[in-house]
Amino acid sequence: MMEILVTNDDGIHADGLRALARSLKPLGNVTVIAPDREQSAASHALTLHRPLRIKKVEEGVLSVDGTPTDCVLLGVHAFLKQKPNLVVSGINHGPNMGNDTTYSGTVAAAIEGTFLGIPSVAISLATWDSADFGAAGTVAHEIVKSFLDHGIDAGMCVSVNIPPIPRAEMKGIRVTRLGKRIYHDVIVEKTDPRGKLYYWIGGEDPTWEQDELSDFNAVSEGFVSVTPLMLELTDYKAIVEMESWGLKLAGAI
Ligand code: MN
Repeated sequence: MMEILVTNDDGIHADGLRALARSLKPLGNVTVIAPDREQSAASHALTLHRPLRIKKVEEGVLSVDGTPTDCVLLGVHAFLKQKPNLVVSGINHGPNMGNDTTYSGTVAAAIEGTFLGIPSVAISLATWDSADFGAAGTVAHEIVKSFLDHGIDAGMCVSVNIPPIPRAEMKGIRVTRLGKRIYHDVIVEKTDPRGKLYYWIGGEDPTWEQDELSDFNAVSEGFVSVTPLMLELTDYKAIVEMESWGLKLAGAI
């Protein structure tokens, strides 16, 4: 039996999590281990300085008072009797594309799964507006099933973004690369009622660089975007360049 660990960063009560768990049930034995509250933009944070508690919500559904990464670690090393065959994180309420990928708790949970030797998939519905996860759930099922049929392997980490349109209007699936954000007025500075300055991260909505191979372009044209991620962060080209710099400590031989 295929063991599937499902988590998210929107918290245990999120509609997208339920839709995902429901859609994956026909593919294996699904266990949900998710944060007990919203953890969006938690990135790859780990809780190291306080104890973590697991609470059973219902059969096969557990909440953790920690981050998405905590959930995957606890699931794999403490709670599940068997190492899962697959980690699926989502369905996030909001896109996880381009540069934003590094902030994402949804993607971080999938990265953690991959680090633990389990093929992992992050799934996001690319809208901030109130969302119907019905169509996204159907797509999640189709995508995960075809990944399994093609033999997604242990080193793989894939980020999927689904356009917020009815299933019948989706044009297909595109394998994409991460797009590039253009941020505008990222920090807003204002004065509070007591005369002190405060700052708000956000400002105007960021836009995207045009790139027909990107995740953003695919989703905006009505395609499901599938981006395989590389977790190797070393810049091998820069190694060659920097070796030629002859870096030395003063006084060292
Ligand atoms: Mn989220």
